[in-house]
Amino acid sequence: MKIVHQDKNVLVLQSALFQTNSTIVETNDLILLVDPNWLPREIAEIQLHILDRMKATQKPVWLLFTHSDYDHIIGYNAFSALVEGVIASRAFVENMEQVSILEQIKQFDDEYYITRGYPIEYPSVSYIVENDEQVLTIGQTKLTFWTASGHNPDGIFTLVNQTLILGDYLCDVEFPYIYYSSWAYQESLNKIEHISQNYDIQVFINGHGNPTTKKKEIIRRKEEALEYIGNVRGSIRADKYFDFDKYIIQKGFQYPRIMRRFHEGNLNLMRQEEFG
Ligand SMILES: [Zn+2]
Repeated sequence: MKIVHQDKNVLVLQSALFQTNSTIVETNDLILLVDPNWLPREIAEIQLHILDRMKATQKPVWLLFTHSDYDHIIGYNAFSALVEGVIASRAFVENMEQVSILEQIKQFDDEYYITRGYPIEYPSVSYIVENDEQVLTIGQTKLTFWTASGHNPDGIFTLVNQTLILGDYLCDVEFPYIYYSSWAYQESLNKIEHISQNYDIQVFINGHGNPTTKKKEIIRRKEEALEYIGNVRGSIRADKYFDFDKYIIQKGFQYPRIMRRFHEGNLNLMRQEEFG
């Protein structure tokens, strides 16, 4: 897999599909594996790495899901037998769409004749994130969590040492994909700014595209995301056309064919929000 960030404690491996990131953070007390994903060979590569580090350090492995979108939980059972615990939000655990999320994985695998050496199941969670600034202490390591809905209903942000794991917010390769609520999405964006102002963060890891070590870059992405949501909502209210093709060229996004579909999804959801 492509290494998109590496430092003493953090390794981010990127899938060929949708530039989706799998993150491994090693602290003095544990190995945290986040959203291990996509293709069988890619998951095998992550497995090898994890087994290697387990053997070398004897540290327990914890698995964390930033949210329940199918691409992020697809590798669950390749790791479930190895791990000490599984972390996700209350809304993740109570998600009513579990069957259809798993169906998306099966649909994808069927479509490309993919076989996996592990069964597809919805993650069984052992540590549930309920509140902002909830802390899980493992040895000397503190993991701090925030809820982050908007993109979908059950996201979380996770701060471990000086690494902030964002899930599918502030991805540099895409604009906001809003499956749940544009208002909640805005709140989650503002939460990121608040966190970055109040904690010492050295690396920000987004679910797709390039992680960044720069707070300025994170604030820039946040402003752009808010601007997109504001402009789309404004265009709906004023019944004016939002020129998406122009927008996408302006921002340099590379995949207009599929992105047009995501934008149309956003439009439908936000029209619902405005007019019911
Ligand atoms: Zn994603």
